[in-house]
Amino acid sequence: MIRFEKKKECIRNCTTSTTPRILKKLPKRSAKARKMAIYYAGVNHYEVREKLGTYTLVLNRSTCDCKVWDMFGILCGHAYSAIQMKHDNVECVLLL
Ligand SMILES: [Zn+2]
Repeated sequence: MIRFEKKKECIRNCTTSTTPRILKKLPKRSAKARKMAIYYAGVNHYEVREKLGTYTLVLNRSTCDCKVWDMFGILCGHAYSAIQMKHDNVECVLLL
């Protein structure tokens, strides 16, 4: 019961649009995103190249070839870099 109350209190005090755990991961993704090359491949479609390979992603479907975004619902570095290229706010995309 104490654990549940602590969680409820944490939720009541939360002022961000996403969970603190996801917000903690975003700076790492942002750092990785800076090392990637992003190419526009059509409306909401991007191709992201990095050291390990090439990934295609579709922003409006929230999918990426690496499957991190699909499986966990958390932006992968590829999606983060594409959103930055598109000049969108990352937090707005997290709310979709
Ligand atoms: Zn990805």
